[in-house]
Amino acid sequence: MKIHEYQAKELFRAQGIPVPPGEVAESPSAAAELSRRYGKTVVIKAQVLVGGRGKAGGVKLAKDPQEARQHAESILGMDIKGLTVNKVLVTEAVDIAKEIYLGVIMDRASQQAVIMASAAGGVDIEEVARDRPEAIHRLTVDPLYGVLAFQSRALARELHDDPAVARQIAVIIEKLYAAFDETDASLAEINPLVVTPAGEVIAIDAKVNVDDSALFRQGEVEAMRDLSAEDPGETESRKMGLSFVRLSGNVGCIVNGAGLAMATMDLVKTYGGQPANFLDIGGSSNPDKVVTALKIILGDSSVRSIFINIFGGITRCDDVARGLVAALQQVEQVPPVVVRLTGTNETEALDILKQVDITTAATMDDGVKKAIELAH
Ligand code: GDP
Ligand code: MN
Repeated sequence: MKIHEYQAKELFRAQGIPVPPGEVAESPSAAAELSRRYGKTVVIKAQVLVGGRGKAGGVKLAKDPQEARQHAESILGMDIKGLTVNKVLVTEAVDIAKEIYLGVIMDRASQQAVIMASAAGGVDIEEVARDRPEAIHRLTVDPLYGVLAFQSRALARELHDDPAVARQIAVIIEKLYAAFDETDASLAEINPLVVTPAGEVIAIDAKVNVDDSALFRQGEVEAMRDLSAEDPGETESRKMGLSFVRLSGNVGCIVNGAGLAMATMDLVKTYGGQPANFLDIGGSSNPDKVVTALKIILGDSSVRSIFINIFGGITRCDDVARGLVAALQQVEQVPPVVVRLTGTNETEALDILKQVDITTAATMDDGVKKAIELAH
């Protein structure tokens, strides 16, 4: 689960990480009012559950209430990577001498948390990782000991030469790890962690992703969920018990079983296509799930064809076929659909599918190739 920057900053503040004062506004006049109250230059920041807001024009400095109103006006309602901005954070601006990257992620290879830090912060850290991997320092954290003081000090010294500044960074490294650990996060990130001309260290951005499987014991975090800001497809599929992740391609995929869904996406890539999503409709034979799945995929205007790949074990192919027919009758303007069904009640399923205008495929390879062709 993703939370907004202002919420992640609340978690950091509670942990004792220095964060500039700020408050959320949902209208230009509320933003102007906050700017008046702070009485100094503020930053107006789009609150959307996606990165790269700065580049998209969603982060702007405002020196007075009038400018705050103007920027809030342009940022509220803005579309950033498919998500609409409903809220802005109005926060006191900080003077920047240096921008540092600091992040904690769960590393699958070592099965431990890894702290990543770079003196080349602010910009895209993915770019730094690609072009100058040596500029990123890593510290693997033993979950039993946590971050030890000598480790955080050594890492901080790689990031800044001034001992007084490095000492502050070392403390922030420990606190960021504590925030990560205590919230069952999969990612906790400060980019940039700023050093001011006066040598103060302050977190001016904040990002926390929390492991969905831990939400049962993270009530405080779960209460931060902002349904209005999430991808509507992902919200809808969670309600229906489907597992859905939107991707950037044009071949929609509806598959039963996470393993088969991954294999299907791999195959789409192998044959030169781009999957539009990961969607696992699970093992049940409930036709409603197919209807929901189809509607979610049709909500994505970049989808040019849909590949449905079903292995009928517990899921009966005829149930899926009935769901498909029902769904196709409920929606207009469906892009071409390719279906590959195999297993329990396969022949009944193929009979049912004769009612609708779709392409069938005998094998996965055949189905994927046809779907890619139709997407062009
Ligand atoms: P992101 O683009 O979504 O990662 O949003 P950030 O919060 O990281 O802001 C993007 C960039 O805006 C930063 O790297 C800074 O260069 C600039 N910025 C953000 N807040 C401030 C601030 O308080 N003062 C100044 N001078 N620049 C800021
Ligand atoms: Mn940032």
